[in-house]
Amino acid sequence: TAATIETHGLRKHYGRTLAVNDLTFTVVPGRVTGFVGPNGAGKSTTMRMILGLDTPDEGRALVGGRPYRGLRTPLRHVGALLDANALHPARRACDHLLWMAHSNGIPARRVDEVLDQVGLATVARRRAGAFSLGMKQRLGIAAALLGDAPVLMFDEPVNGLDPEGIRWICGLLRGLAAQGRAVLVSSHLMSELEDTADHLIVIGRGRLLADTSVRDLRAQA
Ligand code: ADP
Ligand code: ADP
Repeated sequence: TAATIETHGLRKHYGRTLAVNDLTFTVVPGRVTGFVGPNGAGKSTTMRMILGLDTPDEGRALVGGRPYRGLRTPLRHVGALLDANALHPARRACDHLLWMAHSNGIPARRVDEVLDQVGLATVARRRAGAFSLGMKQRLGIAAALLGDAPVLMFDEPVNGLDPEGIRWICGLLRGLAAQGRAVLVSSHLMSELEDTADHLIVIGRGRLLADTSVRDLRAQA
């Protein structure tokens, strides 16, 4: 169960907005699980709660059977890309990763490995502020891969990318699942994920609308 995400009755209000409403689902290893719903449906809020960045009003989220805040080396358990634009623009790409590696007890050689893996090795010394959106997404993905974690979450990783960039990220997600990792990837567009995901969790207004394998969905169509 090291490579799982579980949410149990997650609920979260922001003022009067019910962002997440009684959400229960499991993300299993070896699959790309698409997390789909329109903008404002509660996808980011759910991911933030899984990562302990937001506290649920009710319910709980577990990574590998444990709450995120109970993990001693979080990056080794779960890697995540939440917002590629949150990177510090003045800092060099490699320094972002070196700092993360250092503060998580991850060997510095991993920085070169993940930069290679996402195709940013040649621009590692450029400042993140000079990166295109696609390069920022790749840098955010490199950060998520740094700890070689069995659980990975990507929030809207293909949003705004050109078809080539989308294909590249989808291929990477498939490869990560093929290695046995649990991969949760969000999108506001079902069409962006239907060829990549094995399984879909669909939410609307914070509520679970569907939890289905893509194969079953196709069989019904
Ligand atoms: P999604 O990721 O599916 O687009 P979000 O989780 O970002 O959805 O947002 C769900 C709802 O919660 C939206 O109505 C949004 O406006 C609201 N929301 C999210 N974060 C905050 C916040 N920090 N403060 C107030 N409202 C928020
Ligand atoms: P099969 O060997 O028949 O392909 P799978 O191992 O693909 O079976 O899946 C077994 C069951 O687990 C299916 O019902 C599938 O929908 C479900 N499942 C697969 N991935 C997920 C997921 N990410 N979250 C929840 N259930 C899943």
